[in-house]
Amino acid sequence: MAAKRVFVAGHRGMVGSALVRQLTGKPDAEVVTASRDELDLLDQKAVSAYFADNAFDEVYLAAAKVGGIQANATYPADFIWQNLVIEANIVKSAHDADIDRLLFLGSSCIYPKNAPQPMPEESLLTGVLEPTNEPYAIAKIAGIKLCESYNRQHDRDYRSVMPTNLYGPGDNFHPENSHVLPALLRRFDEAAHTGAEEVVVWGSGTPRREFLHVDDMAAASIHVMDLDHETYAARTQPMLSHVNVGTGVDCSIGELAQLIASVTGYEGKLTFDASKPDGTPRKLLDVTRLTELGWTSQIPLAEGVADTYAWFHEHERSFRGR
Ligand code: GDP
Repeated sequence: MAAKRVFVAGHRGMVGSALVRQLTGKPDAEVVTASRDELDLLDQKAVSAYFADNAFDEVYLAAAKVGGIQANATYPADFIWQNLVIEANIVKSAHDADIDRLLFLGSSCIYPKNAPQPMPEESLLTGVLEPTNEPYAIAKIAGIKLCESYNRQHDRDYRSVMPTNLYGPGDNFHPENSHVLPALLRRFDEAAHTGAEEVVVWGSGTPRREFLHVDDMAAASIHVMDLDHETYAARTQPMLSHVNVGTGVDCSIGELAQLIASVTGYEGKLTFDASKPDGTPRKLLDVTRLTELGWTSQIPLAEGVADTYAWFHEHERSFRGR
């Protein structure tokens, strides 16, 4: 059997690059990527022509404009417009090129601020969103609805996966603008090296978060893409909607900090800075659907943090001065 041609949009990103690493190892897949110079995903004509010229069998839509709370607050127009346009261009072009299989990667921020915990897929559009990243979340919700609508009107098989907080190789380790896990890895690493007596963790340490290694995310995405139509359809009624991807387990920020201290070999004191915001008290996805579809997380947090720390060390030089 000829290998299927698989296009990964967003292959330079943390998730896209993990997808390329895993798909490249599969004998039945020929992975295709396009650099920004070759293909501008914001250019509708260019995307349409690119899909028409390439006979792809499957598309992973991992391209997105992403960023932390600060970036979302500063560039809301960029976040909503770029994400809407990338999704619209790719989904429509895939349909026009008669591609039947597409996987759209979203985010758990699509769920209402006050969704029940753990958050089931059904809580989508049941309440008000977290205001700090609402434009980004709206674009991601639109992506799910784009896929659902092409499924309804054109009988496509376009699926969506919504990951919890991701971490791993390729993460953003910026001291202020990154998420908690890479931020603490970097801070504790520095403290372990300088012999500092104290490391400050933002907030009270009591909020609970779920963390998924990006290699687990890539594996789950490929698993979902590869499910046969009936299996996926049976769990995502009424119209081939989305599936959460997480570990099903959360931990407190205090526990995460302890783990990172031990991985980095830091032996000093840990203090909490209550002047920094805690954010939402708990964020955990309900992964029942994914479990029923036959996938569970394989990388325990301690192992994933150690792996990410090793990657950080190898690439440390590129983070200096940032
Ligand atoms: P959130 O999940 O959207 O709230 O995103 P974050 O990953 O930025 O923050 C998660 C939790 O970790 C919040 O309660 C933060 O206050 C806490 N936290 C502790 N130390 C840090 C840090 O150095 N950086 C960040 N980003 N969060 C931290």
